[in-house]
Amino acid sequence: MLLENLRAEVLEANLEVVRHGLVLYTFGNASGISPDRRLVVIKPSGVPYEKMTAADLVITDLDGNVVEGSLRPSSDLPTHLALYRQFESIGGVVHTHSAYATAWAQARREIPCLGTTHADYFHGPVPVTEMSDADVEKDYELNTGHAIVRRFEKLNPISMPAVLISGHAPFTWGRTPMEAARHAVILEEVAKLAYRSAALQYEAAQLERSLLDKHFLRKNGPSAYYGQK
Ligand SMILES: [Zn+2]
Repeated sequence: MLLENLRAEVLEANLEVVRHGLVLYTFGNASGISPDRRLVVIKPSGVPYEKMTAADLVITDLDGNVVEGSLRPSSDLPTHLALYRQFESIGGVVHTHSAYATAWAQARREIPCLGTTHADYFHGPVPVTEMSDADVEKDYELNTGHAIVRRFEKLNPISMPAVLISGHAPFTWGRTPMEAARHAVILEEVAKLAYRSAALQYEAAQLERSLLDKHFLRKNGPSAYYGQK
C-alpha cells in the first residue's frame, strides 16, 4: 500500500472530528497531502466511520485521478485539491457541517473575533466566501475551492486556517491532517462562543487589537513562547 503513514494520519483526522461530535452519519471528510505534494489521501465517499480502515482511504493525484483504492473518493475532493494546489504551506484539509460554524455560514456572516480563545488560533474574523449561481451549476466542488482561494487573496492560510462557505459549512486546514482536524474542533467551539456572546450583545465586546495580536502571536508568531519548546 502507498503512503501507509499518511493513510494512518488521515484516518485519525477523520475519526477526530467524529469523536468531538462534529459529524453526523457520513457527513464530512478529511484529507492529507504527501510530503512531495504529488498525492492526496482522502476519505472515501459515503463509508460509515465505524467501519472505515486506513485501506479504505483513496489516493489520488492533484488532478483527481485515483492512483490507489477501489472506492470512490469523497465528492468534495476537487475542493481539497484546489486548496492544496494554491496553499503550499498546508498538509491537511477537513470539511464538516458542525452545527455552530454551519449556523454562521448559513447566516452568511463571518465569525467576529470576540475573545482570546478565537485569537489563539484565528488571527481575525473567520471569513465567508460567496459563490455565484454559475459557480454552483457547473464544477461546484472545484469552484468552491476557487472561491476560497479568491477570498484568501490577502489572507495567510496559516494564520487563518478556516473559512465558511456561504449557505453551506466550514472548511479548515493545517500543516498536518490532524492539525486541520483540531482546527475544525476549535472552530466549532469558537463559533459556539461567538453565537452565545452575540446573543448577549457582542457590539460592546469586540476584542481589542492588542489582545488579538498578543494571543495569536504568542502561540504562532516567529517569537512564539506558548507551550513547550
Ligand atoms: Zn458539505
